[in-house]
Amino acid sequence: MIPILLEWKKPKGKVVLERRPWPDVESAQYECVVAEGGDVDIALRSINLENPIALKYINCRTDDDLLTFVSLYGDPFGFGDLKYRPVYRYLTDTDYLELALFALAGERQNRNRSHIEAVLHDIRLKPVFEFFDSGKARVIMSAPSLYAFMAMEVAAAGEAGATLRKCAHCQELFLIGPMTNRRDTAIYCRDRCRVYASRARKAGKGGRDVGPET
Ligand SMILES: [Zn+2]
Repeated sequence: MIPILLEWKKPKGKVVLERRPWPDVESAQYECVVAEGGDVDIALRSINLENPIALKYINCRTDDDLLTFVSLYGDPFGFGDLKYRPVYRYLTDTDYLELALFALAGERQNRNRSHIEAVLHDIRLKPVFEFFDSGKARVIMSAPSLYAFMAMEVAAAGEAGATLRKCAHCQELFLIGPMTNRRDTAIYCRDRCRVYASRARKAGKGGRDVGPET
């Protein structure tokens, strides 16, 4: 796969969730993410199926999860200005990515092409030259947004033949199989979950073997 480049911005300061009135409905409120103190540049240079950003996004289940994600990687769609971004938009888009990932890397018999096409539709990668000090150059694909980068991770997981699994301890989704550095038998997303699950079993049932490694 041609390398994917994302040049993006993340908030420099604190990210908080605020309630704002809905513009046209006096009684309605919506949550929004507000970043204070400007942005800093970040660059992502390749897709890593061991720990894809798309899965960190999909695994956001609470407001706090979402705030942590935005503080680490920025707004998936905007470029800098995070103010007053409704939270419902984020959470809807994690659903789209999750559906596509399930379609590509979940149960093959349940593959739903419309979910995949919906996520891939707006990626619009742009070829750019990357120049090296040696004077050589190569073509890489530039992603227009963090969301597009995550959608490409979803596509790469499908291309690699990785499989989606839910952690038996923390319930987060993770990838197993080719390019993921995890065995097909892994049932925990990380070592920490395997250890916690083992301790819980020992405490509850007087000790059993530790499950397969991640
Ligand atoms: Zn886990």
